[in-house]
Amino acid sequence: MKDRKLLMIPGPVEFTPEVIRAMGMFTTSHVAPDFIEVFGQALERLREVFLCPQGQPFVIAGSGTLAMDIAAANLIEPGDKALVVNTGYFGDRFAAILERYGAEVTQVKAPAIGDAPPLDEVEAALQSGSYKLMTITHVDTSTAVKADVKGLAAVGRRYGALVVVDGVCAVAGEEMRQEEWGIDLALTASQKAICVPPGLALVVAGPRAMEAFRKRQTPVGNYYADWNNWLPIMEAYEARQPSYFGTPPVNLIWALNVSLGQILDEGMEARFARHRRLSRAFKAAVAALGLKQLPLSADKEATTLTAIYYPAGVDRTVLGYIKEAGVIVAGGLHPAIKAQYFRVGHMGVVSAADILTTVGAIEQGLARAGYQFEPGTGLAAAQAVLCESS
Ligand code: PMP
Repeated sequence: MKDRKLLMIPGPVEFTPEVIRAMGMFTTSHVAPDFIEVFGQALERLREVFLCPQGQPFVIAGSGTLAMDIAAANLIEPGDKALVVNTGYFGDRFAAILERYGAEVTQVKAPAIGDAPPLDEVEAALQSGSYKLMTITHVDTSTAVKADVKGLAAVGRRYGALVVVDGVCAVAGEEMRQEEWGIDLALTASQKAICVPPGLALVVAGPRAMEAFRKRQTPVGNYYADWNNWLPIMEAYEARQPSYFGTPPVNLIWALNVSLGQILDEGMEARFARHRRLSRAFKAAVAALGLKQLPLSADKEATTLTAIYYPAGVDRTVLGYIKEAGVIVAGGLHPAIKAQYFRVGHMGVVSAADILTTVGAIEQGLARAGYQFEPGTGLAAAQAVLCESS
């Protein structure tokens, strides 16, 4: 019997064999001509995946938190005002990072866990102060709440704030059109819908963000994150020239270029549509099983992951049963309700077969945990969505 489990957590996700092969290649020099070509191509492809033709991409060794750090370090000067649209754990993190660079941070918090701050409240906050920057977490991975990035970005722009989107649990899964929606900086990490093992911080900065950076009066308060160090490197790789600031993670960048090629072969519109369809199928199963999701309304539900309350009488021991049935899912993350829910990631190369396998394993786990339901109810609901003609 196969013993490899299906990994359905909100990152790291499953990767394609081609990506894994790139990770296992003999490492070349970071200035080898074939690597320079690969890095240059990956930067060009990032613009297409972020839908930001005029953007400046940065690919830097580190996790998603470094990408947040890079945004704050380069765009904030001490005393700048920043507004955080907070939908959970990662909004708290952005606020802490911005404060570390001397920003005066105001937070507009969701009225309840599973909710998002209403647009008019964000607008009122923007109106009452002159904010240099606002941050939005596209999908808060702790709550599976999706923010209305398009609406929020339009309001932020109207009040002159630089719009920064933490798209770590979203980019290449959720619909995001960076340039069209007026997003000045979007960021993610390799291990989520980009489908590359952890280790790359990915940032695309639009012209207004780069201009704000160039107009700084004070030095960037973080040596490693400073765009003054990285911009010449990114420009050199795109010009297919050798350069060096810090040794790039060669295999990860090779894998990134492979994955970005696969993402673009699928096409961004098709990719968004696949994520929507599979999310709808999975959520239909959750509802049919009588389980409740964290997001308080359907318009706030992420398409890259689902957060589900344990039903009465069930706790996290069910996660072990689900694993024994072949699928790894994640526990809760939001500190206030951590023990009350679990999370299932369905982003990246996820397929309809993965959704059915996961629903099947969850049903087996719930049955073992003593939950009363008719086995197959969730599977039938998911299958009904998957069988709809698209
Ligand atoms: N923001 C969001 C929305 C995330 O989901 C995560 C990771 N789960 C991060 C930021 C931080 O990324 P990393 O763990 O790669 O540092």
